[in-house]
Amino acid sequence: MIEILAPCGSAESLFAALRTGADAVYLGGENFSARRNATNFTDDELKKAVFDCHVRGVKLYLAVNTILTDEQLKECAAYVKKACELGVDGLITQDLALVEIVKNCCPKMEIHSSTQMTIHTKNGAELAHDMGFSRVVLSRELPFEIIADISNLDVETEVFVHGALCMSVSGQCYMSAVIGSRSANRGLCAQPCRLPMSTKKGREDYALSLKDLCAIDCLDKLEKAGVSSLKIEGRMKRPEYVAAAVNAYKNKALKRDYDTTLLESVFSRSGFTNGYIEGKINSGMFGTRTKDDVVASSKALPKLHELYRKEYKRSRLKIQCIVIENKPVEIIAKIDDGIEVKATGDVAQTALNRPCDEQMLTKQLSKLGDTIYELESLSAKIVGNPAVSASQLNALRRELVEKLNDKRAEHNTKIVPFDMDKLCLDFKTTRTNKKPDIRISVTSLTQLEKVDINSIDMIILPLAIAKKAVAKGTYKSKIAVCMPRFTYDEESDIQTPRELKNLGIESVYCTNFAHLKIGKELGLKMHTDFGFNVANSLAIKNLCEVGISDYIASIELKASQINRLAGVKPKGVVAYGRLPLMLTANCPIKQSCGCENCKGKLYDRTGREFPVRCQKQHGYVEILNSEVLYLADKLHDFDVSFIKLDFYDESPDRVAQIINRYQNGVPSDMDKITRGLYYRGVK
Ligand SMILES: [Zn+2]
Repeated sequence: MIEILAPCGSAESLFAALRTGADAVYLGGENFSARRNATNFTDDELKKAVFDCHVRGVKLYLAVNTILTDEQLKECAAYVKKACELGVDGLITQDLALVEIVKNCCPKMEIHSSTQMTIHTKNGAELAHDMGFSRVVLSRELPFEIIADISNLDVETEVFVHGALCMSVSGQCYMSAVIGSRSANRGLCAQPCRLPMSTKKGREDYALSLKDLCAIDCLDKLEKAGVSSLKIEGRMKRPEYVAAAVNAYKNKALKRDYDTTLLESVFSRSGFTNGYIEGKINSGMFGTRTKDDVVASSKALPKLHELYRKEYKRSRLKIQCIVIENKPVEIIAKIDDGIEVKATGDVAQTALNRPCDEQMLTKQLSKLGDTIYELESLSAKIVGNPAVSASQLNALRRELVEKLNDKRAEHNTKIVPFDMDKLCLDFKTTRTNKKPDIRISVTSLTQLEKVDINSIDMIILPLAIAKKAVAKGTYKSKIAVCMPRFTYDEESDIQTPRELKNLGIESVYCTNFAHLKIGKELGLKMHTDFGFNVANSLAIKNLCEVGISDYIASIELKASQINRLAGVKPKGVVAYGRLPLMLTANCPIKQSCGCENCKGKLYDRTGREFPVRCQKQHGYVEILNSEVLYLADKLHDFDVSFIKLDFYDESPDRVAQIINRYQNGVPSDMDKITRGLYYRGVK
């Protein structure tokens, strides 16, 4: 049976999820959880949560899914140790430091790659598997066919089926961080996509607000395709929402009836969408939460409470009673997984009135109302004329239930050993002591016309123009072919680096984990981009083991933190350009599948402009920052081996001029620039 996985942002939501039939839950602790504004669980609450889940045979996955800095590694390792000791069933992670911690200290702990890792292709899933992940939580933007393809691989897949849809592909959203220093990758997304944003200046639209997802109608085909787990989003939502969603999906999985209107009334944004899974990306996917939606929610509350008023039945009991006059009463309860418990009562006296019979035993022992058990069968051996009071039978029944619960919890809790001595956090930073090399990425070959190629270390070119450039042959040795950050057709994307490899190109510029697999297979030098969110030395160690040649540090780190990052491979930073604040599969300009290169901008309430770089021919769109990142006069603050300048629509003259300014440390000539997060950092 396919797993129904419920979000639990609080003890109340956990209660609701367990009592409506969730097969697994995910929740966060007080630290390292990507929902830092949810109530989350203290260590004691977590301990109780593990027990409550395991009694019911429910899996508990702990989200340790924020990006970590070096200063947090020790504390995070201690937290993983605690998780091992408490017997959680798996960790949901995005930072590669966790891969290192688990690999070295507790290799038996199951890890799932968070959707924050932006794994959305077969190569990505295979790489995750090679890295030690037993499950990948796929990006939400995939059509059914790709989900099915990935689910055929030797790694479990988890698919979002219900709840909020972010406009940005998870793990690639920097809007909240850049606008307000609240990092989505560190659990503090301020949800800027729900704020007014329009394609026309001065108009109040919500061009980035998607409806909520509901894929309940796809449940059967997802199950048939081999998907392991169906994930409900909503660690910030109330328990009634969790109850409604779990109830509907669980009933659907069991081919029972469920209340669709209840599901819609509990929370939606002008109804639901299933556009991604159906492969229909269009304007119908957009929506906001209306007054009607809110009224529907409050009206539905009493009905919703009813859903989890009683315990969900999970186990059938076979009860055997031995009641012999003048001997202690014995009751034995057995359940399916081989667990058997016994309760012994007082000596049964000779009955003065009505002696004990099977009917009386059944009546008292089947009162399993608010437990997870229901009576399957009862057999009784009654000898003589024994008397047993109803109150004694009730006490024995309660004792049996408690014993069964303890045994089930014990049976379902696997404590994984954790060896802290295996973790080395002794990193040595060495100073670079030289001027950083300059790498540039351009969007057209004409942008290179005025550039002194000899002064450039690397030219990063997207697939389409890399081929043309190689055909020209002039600066072939400097070209790194850049893979698309998101794709619906990786097979054809791979053709370009494969062909170019045969033509002598040595480098692939990786923008997604999948490219590490592709680069390795093609025998190309691999350079990782900012989208890997590399923020600590342990993650760098992991990437170096995978085989990268160098890396770009996370754009959410301060310069001082970047300088402290240690690793044997060269380190770089993004030093110029409009930072892509969002990577989206949905184009806010045309809101349709077929668009490509559509021109336009988004405007926020203050009139700030955000250029939209539509590359739907590659399957994605980038929403760029309103201001240009400029650091030419600040490079002395960075101890890095190379800097990357990202050109977007600059003229050939301007490209050459900017490079010159970076070579000579010249301050900006623009009215407004940004220093990114390199000085203010994120919360
Ligand atoms: Zn477009």
